[in-house]
Amino acid sequence: MVQPTESGLVVNTGIDYDISVREILETFHEQGVNCASIGGQPSHVASWWSDDALSDLVELCDSLRMTIHSIHCPIGTDHNLCSVDPQILAKTVKGMERAIRAATELGAEAVVFHAYALQDPLFQRVRTIETHLEELILLAEALNVQFAVENLPNEGCVGALYAIMAVMGDRLKFCWDSGHANLPGSGGLSLLDCLRDSLCMVHLSDNDGQTDQHLIPGMGSMDFDKIMKKLAKIGYRGCILLETKRPRGMTLVRAVKLNLEAGRTLLSLREGYTMGLGQ
Ligand SMILES: [Zn+2]
Repeated sequence: MVQPTESGLVVNTGIDYDISVREILETFHEQGVNCASIGGQPSHVASWWSDDALSDLVELCDSLRMTIHSIHCPIGTDHNLCSVDPQILAKTVKGMERAIRAATELGAEAVVFHAYALQDPLFQRVRTIETHLEELILLAEALNVQFAVENLPNEGCVGALYAIMAVMGDRLKFCWDSGHANLPGSGGLSLLDCLRDSLCMVHLSDNDGQTDQHLIPGMGSMDFDKIMKKLAKIGYRGCILLETKRPRGMTLVRAVKLNLEAGRTLLSLREGYTMGLGQ
């Protein structure tokens, strides 16, 4: 498990991909967020992609005393570890390698990726993933970074997730994303029971059950009381990582404040259930 930070809370820079990582981290710092994760959209990947950008980011985090908890591998249609297109595959692997190296430089404990798995037969996708994951996990192990795969929102992806976890065993960790788990055919809370021994982090956001809206917990239809009870029950004591988007019309500062409030409420809910289990 990725070790909890002092506050137990992590906020993702994807709160607004139109604002630079620098400005977001400065705002986090001003608002009392001292632990962040970096989102996988191109505009934020740019903050660690080149050597120069990465050393600037390391310097910024040092000056703000900001801990980087984890890095998301690049996401988008040209990043797909299951792709049969050799160019896309090469680009994906390169992106994941760079993310692992960036994590090392930034002192981040984990790198998370999406296993896209839609277009080919399951065995073929898993074999493609397995071939490349072996090398990527070796690199991550050598650099002391945890490598984690995230659940994605559909049945094909859930099937691929179980298959990959079965093939890679304990060397690959699991990141449970509440927003993805709340969408149709996505496995929901049962993923937490089935993959509890591999769970190393959780990404929390809310939605309406239809689209991955990345709402602040409490603003959608999800039952976070039930989620915190489940996390307490399976013994998850790691960080709560908030992966939300700034609501339209709300300032970044206000969105960060609301994330902190929601995160603290979630932590105290989990603590309550954890204490209840001990009695
Ligand atoms: Zn996520």
